[in-house]
Amino acid sequence: MRERLVLVGNGMAGVRTLEELLKLAPDRYDITVFGAEPHPNYNRILLSPVLSGEKTPEEIVLNGRDWYESHGITLHTGAPVTTLDRARRRVVAADGTEAGYDRLLLATGSRPVRLPIPGSDLDGVVTFRDIADVESMVAASAKGRRAAVIGGGLLGLEAAHGLRERGMEVTVVHLADHLMERQLDAEAGGMLQQSMAERGIAFELSAKTEAVLGEEAVSGIRLADGRTLEADLVVMAAGIQPEKSLAEASGLHCERGVVVGDTMQTFDPRVYAVGECVQHRGATYGLVAPLFEQAKVAANHLAELGSGRYEGSVTSTKLKVSGIDLFSAGDFEGDEDTESMVLHDAASGIYKKLVVRDNRIEGAVLFGDTIDGSWYFELLRDGTDISDMRDQLLFGQAHVGDAGHGEGGRVAVMADETEICGCNGVCKGDITKAITEKGLFTLDEVRAHTKASASCGSCTGLVESLLAFTVGEGYDETPRKKAVCGCTDYSHDEVRAAIRDHALKSIPEVMHFLEWKNEDGCTKCRPALNYYLLCEWPGEYADDPASRFINERAHANIQKDGTYSVVPRIWGGVTSPAELRAIAEVAEKYEVPTVKFTGGQRIDLLGVTKEDLPHVWADLNAAGFVSGHAYGKAVRTVKTCVGQEWCRFGVQDSTNLGIELEHMAWGAWTPHKVKLAVSGCPRNCAESTIKDLGVVAVESGWELHVAGNGGTKVRAADFLTRVDTAEEVKEYTAAFLQLYREQAHYLERTAHWVERVGLAAVRERVVDDAETRRALADRFAHSQGYAQNDPWRAHAESGDQRSYIPIKEVTA
Ligand SMILES: Cc1cc2nc3c(=O)[nH]c(=O)nc-3n(C[C@H](O)[C@H](O)[C@H](O)COP(=O)(O)OP(=O)(O)OC[C@H]3O[C@@H](n4cnc5c(N)ncnc54)[C@H](O)[C@@H]3O)c2cc1C
Ligand code: SF4
Ligand code: SF4
Repeated sequence: MRERLVLVGNGMAGVRTLEELLKLAPDRYDITVFGAEPHPNYNRILLSPVLSGEKTPEEIVLNGRDWYESHGITLHTGAPVTTLDRARRRVVAADGTEAGYDRLLLATGSRPVRLPIPGSDLDGVVTFRDIADVESMVAASAKGRRAAVIGGGLLGLEAAHGLRERGMEVTVVHLADHLMERQLDAEAGGMLQQSMAERGIAFELSAKTEAVLGEEAVSGIRLADGRTLEADLVVMAAGIQPEKSLAEASGLHCERGVVVGDTMQTFDPRVYAVGECVQHRGATYGLVAPLFEQAKVAANHLAELGSGRYEGSVTSTKLKVSGIDLFSAGDFEGDEDTESMVLHDAASGIYKKLVVRDNRIEGAVLFGDTIDGSWYFELLRDGTDISDMRDQLLFGQAHVGDAGHGEGGRVAVMADETEICGCNGVCKGDITKAITEKGLFTLDEVRAHTKASASCGSCTGLVESLLAFTVGEGYDETPRKKAVCGCTDYSHDEVRAAIRDHALKSIPEVMHFLEWKNEDGCTKCRPALNYYLLCEWPGEYADDPASRFINERAHANIQKDGTYSVVPRIWGGVTSPAELRAIAEVAEKYEVPTVKFTGGQRIDLLGVTKEDLPHVWADLNAAGFVSGHAYGKAVRTVKTCVGQEWCRFGVQDSTNLGIELEHMAWGAWTPHKVKLAVSGCPRNCAESTIKDLGVVAVESGWELHVAGNGGTKVRAADFLTRVDTAEEVKEYTAAFLQLYREQAHYLERTAHWVERVGLAAVRERVVDDAETRRALADRFAHSQGYAQNDPWRAHAESGDQRSYIPIKEVTA
């Protein structure tokens, strides 16, 4: 028999938890839902546009009754639960309906505060929380002329805007001396007030409401200074309180809200709680983004998938008044130890303020131009060191040098992971993927497919820019497109996260877990999965040759006439007469038609037949050579110049460092090929600045350059940092390679990867944070312990002349 799950509270957090749960474990529970409101689950955030007449109540329904039915969920609406009997594990609703549970989810939201002042219960005094409130306000606006809104916070201002749109004369009465004082500083609050005043809304600031006036119905309000304002409608938008009465009455531990731990369980482990009713680590939340994070964790736990933990959220706020762009996050006031960076262009109505402590953003307030809000929020949340971009920070992400090639508008430079729609947790990558894969052309289509901008709507401008950019510029050809292939809707990052978080250790396991549409996969996903598994589980995952491209399976590059090229590894490009002799003998013995030096200073034996390959390898092996991996998505060559030992300009021993680097890094499988170089002085004869990682000697040490590229599209490497010693070069190189291995999408060169994630993010881990760097280098070394097996030797030792020949050909 299935376990019984009862949800009390049919609102945004509770039903989101069910949605997540149904994705993870659709058949685990018999689910019953009790909702106090008579409606199915709707988007509370969109009550503001309903009030202003931009949307109808029907348009904001998130899950209609058919959704409950189709998932076999029993729904009781208009049925507030009045008793929670934890001893008998039952709930009872006001109408007498009862339900037993094995697990219970409380998601009772908040109650709007009604000020304890005379007259607050008069007819015509409303709060702003649910559809019934909006219906009362709409009805009042049809009859009356004047409205007073008590509270100049987010809700009060949205109510004021909505009522104004309905034709009422609206006055906002606010206790503080500027609007939204919990999210805005005085400057931005003043600009907001001006914009709203231009829309015909009046304000009484630093004003306390002392009483609501009227006999039966409201006729006005009286302020503490004795003045009165006439009003036919009074909206109290003076804050919310977690709705904990049911939990409290049942004996569950409550403080300001229902107290939960990191798994979203209350003190009774059978009882979970999510949403605004919850108090977690002392904090309560009044915005959806954190509640959706809680929902994920609760669903995970309910599905018994385990270990996800909610650790609290940093929140950001936007206002949903059309034409007013406002964004706020974190500590926007600062203190004596913080500095404020401010850009104020009064003529254009733009104000941007960043509060910075120790080169890290702690708070942001944006008015008039909020496009960089999500980026600042990301920097804030990640604690990114902004020293490198200080001078351009206020101008936005598009102006910061390392963010890519810059063209194509500001949305172009955002990373795929940048959150565009905070309400629904939709990132740029999700949106571009939907646009390109599903051929979307309109905002409504994007909303329908991704939910982006379908809630509060404040990211609409961003989504539109993204749409214009993506559709307009053939965006699907850029590496930002993320679904691994047509066999799945999951992105590379999602697949990697699943492999890591759910300890998936084989290709079939990954495909099963992520519900691959094609159970055999294809030539795109199989090699990618093989690489991701190799990278994540060194020593545990057994390489799957059938999931490799032909070159990698044959350990040689196939040439256009069907023969192969064989490139033995020549460490740092330094060879010896004995090695040359051995290569010459192999070339003669197997009648290799062409012997040529490669661009990476190696010797290439071109035109080896497939049958001869194993013999050629065996002979080269016997002479001490290992494979040069010239065919693989792997570390290839380390090119060096002659350096200090021979060259009169040389300032360091580039040759030996190159040899050491190659000994350290050979054999590593990487998302794409990786080339290194070491030059003995800034004359840079080894062309270090067009390599994936290039080292250039200077008098005082070594400069490291990364993400360079020769090939069709030359890209000069970015300067990463300067270090003093060869040992440091090795540690930084190992860390850089490991970060690339762990973060890049399969077949993404270092150049594209660094452009995608931003050089600053790489520098932060490889340069600024010594602990992270060492951890990366250690993981690289650990992985190398398993990777440095010469495939030629392995093959020769196996004695199986045919073992490398594929069973099922996978061609690139
Ligand atoms: C007008 C408005 C605008 C908003 N704008 C934004 C915004 O722009 N961005 C943002 O992030 N957030 C916004 N919010 C806040 C957001 O809507 C809430 O954070 C979110 O809805 C909270 O979800 P919840 O599930 O915890 O509570 P709710 O969505 O309130 O759901 C709780 C439900 O439980 C029901 N309930 C309570 N007690 C019982 C009981 N005993 N038995 C059965 N049912 C019960 C309630 O009736 C309610 O339906 C806004 C809120 C409002 C009111
Ligand atoms: S890079 Fe400098 S040290 Fe190396 S060969 Fe060229 S000039 Fe000499
Ligand atoms: S440059 Fe072109 S032709 Fe020459 S080896 Fe590379 S791919 Fe082949």
